[in-house]
Amino acid sequence: MAEKELKESAAPVDSLTFLGTGGARFMIISQLLATGGVWFNLGGTEFLVDPGPGCIVQATKRKLNPEHLSAILISHRHLDHSADVNIMTEAMTRGGIRKRGCFYAPGDAIIDEPVMYEYLKKRIECVETLAAGKSYSFDDVHFSTPVRHQHGVETYGFVFKTAKHSIAWITDTRYFEELAEHYRGDLLLLNVVFPEPRQHVNQIEGLPVDHLSIPDAENLIKEIKPKVAIMTHFGMGMWRAKPWELAEKLSQSTGIRVIAARDGMKFQLSELDA
Ligand SMILES: [Zn+2]
Repeated sequence: MAEKELKESAAPVDSLTFLGTGGARFMIISQLLATGGVWFNLGGTEFLVDPGPGCIVQATKRKLNPEHLSAILISHRHLDHSADVNIMTEAMTRGGIRKRGCFYAPGDAIIDEPVMYEYLKKRIECVETLAAGKSYSFDDVHFSTPVRHQHGVETYGFVFKTAKHSIAWITDTRYFEELAEHYRGDLLLLNVVFPEPRQHVNQIEGLPVDHLSIPDAENLIKEIKPKVAIMTHFGMGMWRAKPWELAEKLSQSTGIRVIAARDGMKFQLSELDA
């Protein structure tokens, strides 16, 4: 990638930009909170994780250039994590002019019922299937998907490793005992949809949709002991409960700095060294 292009990036080196902090049904259909995923820049390599509905709007609004992306990753095929995969692929390849970038997704989002159109797949350099316990790399970015989550469809979280930092992201899942041991990191990202533990059942499918709640987040933060924890992916109930106040309480109960992400928030990894 040309030096000039990197300098023009609105995503500083070693930062995460939240293109949305909303999750689950009512947030994605109301867009009360945006649902565009997280834009990473690790050591100058830019990539996107979980581009939900509106990602292209949020990215362009914040002057992030999709042509800088080296990869698009999705944790699972649910709409709030994958809806903008196609348009972001189109943008990453400059409308199909420049063949570039990789796409990483669980098998059921690539093979069973692909979330990416076939014609777009031909415009990128690689498509990789995520699996439990595997490691991957592109450019200088290394990550693993340590364990399959309990979340209906095939779902993985991520552990990113840079020369200086590790970032663990527990995406959508029901809480289970082994979560903490798989997600060690200086920075811990948590998708916290509910303020209280709750069994949510999709009324049409009759299937449970499993998510973490604040007490789950508290357990995980205490066990993992990151330098900083960031909560995101808030459902409507969580939003009404004021995530920033819940984060403050968690900071007090865990002794660890806990942040409730805001739409458009940029987190610089240098804050972990403070
Ligand atoms: Zn989900």
